[in-house]
Amino acid sequence: MVWLLTYYVEGILFGCFAMKFYDLVDYILNIILPENLNCFLCDLPISKNNSYSICKGCFCKLSYIGDGCRICGKPIKSDNSEYLSGFSDDREYDEIQQGCDFCRKKSFLFDKNISILEYNEASSKIVFKYKYGKKTFLARVISDMMCDILDKKHSDVLTNADFVTFVPLSKVRMKERGFNQSEKLAKYICERYSLEAVELIKRVKNTKKLYGLNSSDRKKVLRSAFEINPEYRNRLNGKKVIIIDDIFTSGSTINEISKILRLNGVFEIVSITFLTGEYKK
Ligand SMILES: [Zn+2]
Ligand SMILES: [Zn+2]
Repeated sequence: MVWLLTYYVEGILFGCFAMKFYDLVDYILNIILPENLNCFLCDLPISKNNSYSICKGCFCKLSYIGDGCRICGKPIKSDNSEYLSGFSDDREYDEIQQGCDFCRKKSFLFDKNISILEYNEASSKIVFKYKYGKKTFLARVISDMMCDILDKKHSDVLTNADFVTFVPLSKVRMKERGFNQSEKLAKYICERYSLEAVELIKRVKNTKKLYGLNSSDRKKVLRSAFEINPEYRNRLNGKKVIIIDDIFTSGSTINEISKILRLNGVFEIVSITFLTGEYKK
């Protein structure tokens, strides 16, 4: 009689536990592999096979940079290409090779910048949600988008690099945001190519936000903002360095970092950034 009671109690207990356990497994699986996800830009449902968690409508609003300027990576567009389509090829070719109107008269200290998408309403929303919306999972999405284009168009740029680094964040900003958006992107990008993202540069000054400042004001703000990480001081001579960042605007930040790297003997500097805006005269 007693064994029969024990049997029933155990059965009930096991049943409860089993149910709860499988519910829990289901719950966890749903988080890891949800059947239906939503587009992180407009919230429309999308299938879980969607590679960047963006719906087709939002993806169509993104503009990949086809032929970027060879130096600054900004999209090359003729103002009158609509009317002069037959004549614009030479000028576009010249801009790709010699530098565009934006960078031709500038003396950048880096060799080139490669950007993936044009800065527009949709693409800037991705970065905004990532940086300020605490959606850190977007680091994976953004870095995947970057790597897919690097694989297609610049397959050797990372594999030939000696060091991959990122734009450092000030302590104040790090406290506010909780993470360095460039470092996270660099880590995911490096993961894909079995490389290591290292902190070559330290930010020694808490600079104010550069948004809305013109190029010369940006330069002033950034002056003496960075220093070489002493750990790498004697290891950079003749090396190729990649700098990862989210947005290339005037190039001031990458240029200031490049100055420090050049002073420490770096031979080649390429920046890889997710967005850059079209140069408007
Ligand atoms: Zn959408
Ligand atoms: Zn240019």
